[in-house]
Amino acid sequence: MYPLSAIAATNIPMQKRVYIETYGCQMNEHDSERILRLLEGSDYLETKDAQEADFILINTCSVREKPEHKVYSALGRYRWLKEKRGVIIGVAGCVAQQEGERILSKFPLLDFVVGPQKIHHLNEILGEVEGGRRRVCEIGFEDNVSANTILPHSTQHRAFVTIMQGCDNFCSYCIVPYVRGRERSRPSHTIISEIEALVQKGTKEVILLGQNVNSYAKNDPHELTFLQLLAKINEIQGLERIRFTTSHPRDFTEEFIESFAGLRRLCEHIHLPFQAGSNTVLRRMKRGYTKEEYLAKVIKLREVVPNASITSDVMVGFPGEKERDFAQTLDLMRAVQFDGLYSFKYSPRKGTGAARWRDDIPAEIKQRRLEILQEFQRGITLRKNKALESDVLEVLVEGCSRNSPREMMGRTRCNRIVNFPGGDDLVGESVKVKIEVGLTNSLRGELCYKEEKIC
Ligand code: SF4
Repeated sequence: MYPLSAIAATNIPMQKRVYIETYGCQMNEHDSERILRLLEGSDYLETKDAQEADFILINTCSVREKPEHKVYSALGRYRWLKEKRGVIIGVAGCVAQQEGERILSKFPLLDFVVGPQKIHHLNEILGEVEGGRRRVCEIGFEDNVSANTILPHSTQHRAFVTIMQGCDNFCSYCIVPYVRGRERSRPSHTIISEIEALVQKGTKEVILLGQNVNSYAKNDPHELTFLQLLAKINEIQGLERIRFTTSHPRDFTEEFIESFAGLRRLCEHIHLPFQAGSNTVLRRMKRGYTKEEYLAKVIKLREVVPNASITSDVMVGFPGEKERDFAQTLDLMRAVQFDGLYSFKYSPRKGTGAARWRDDIPAEIKQRRLEILQEFQRGITLRKNKALESDVLEVLVEGCSRNSPREMMGRTRCNRIVNFPGGDDLVGESVKVKIEVGLTNSLRGELCYKEEKIC
């Protein structure tokens, strides 16, 4: 962004500024990146300060957050900016898709809502709003996944690439199939050429995104399978790392696990949401696997890739969850020893199967179970991170550390954040870092010399 002093001293026209507030999952973070990319070439530049924005976009996620609550409180926060300066305010993401016109009529200050599948119309929507023509509600689904796939920024060393959208699973608590639609996969040749283009521009690591990547193109006999797609991407010269998220345990097959170690660029990290350790709860969630099947896959994965890091999602307080069900969730965590865990309290999502049942676990019990579970996981994560002390790990440097401008931050192949003293000439480089301290959420280390051996 131009410094304000420079703008005043030259004839550069005053730019308008967009502030994006993002809630939720990686898919949503990726959508916010796409939005910024879409706005390149328009009148808007990004700002990190809502107070100086001319356009505020609230990009919502209804999968992991209390969505309406977050949106309403954000709209309340920005009301005075609308009243004082006529800031344009829009809501994107799952809540926009779900609430549509309802949210527009509830909040007269809101200028537009746009669903996740209609983001590629953003510039037209802004044109209409700026022209004062109308308030806009653009929601619904697109058949063509490529229509709303926009290349992330070309200089990123780490880039998200959408390979599919939507989900066919209809887990009983989940809103995704209703707000992001049924599964649709992008043609493999467009994915591969997108990654080749990214690599040419400096990308070293790609994260393949989909709600259920292992079922990529499952209904298209003429398309590659997910495994074949990975194998093709693995051949792209110059690409260093491949990750993917999210995998559904049911579709995470033995054949897939066996091929894992053969793909050199594939990082040793799997995010495999288990959600609950009780078969009764898993059945009510309609997850399509048992805890025994889940455990068997983890054991197999650790046989094939012994240093694989496994992270997961878990929910507490699902309707009908008894103390003994919750104890089984802790048992599963004890058995697997996850490297990291995203944990949530259940809350009903309008329109889903589980929303028809009474949300019968009192808030204080949900909170207590969540705290017990998080405390338990903190101990596991810390112990695993401490076990890495003295190891030398390969770190792809992403940028300055949040802790200090004199420190850099990067990520190991198993997706751990590492902070270490260094300069920004290292950004985008793969370096070796000797781990000195394992903390709960990250590792600290020292940059090594080249001759040191990677563990
Ligand atoms: S697999 Fe289940 S939880 Fe995951 S997106 Fe699909 S419906 Fe939602």
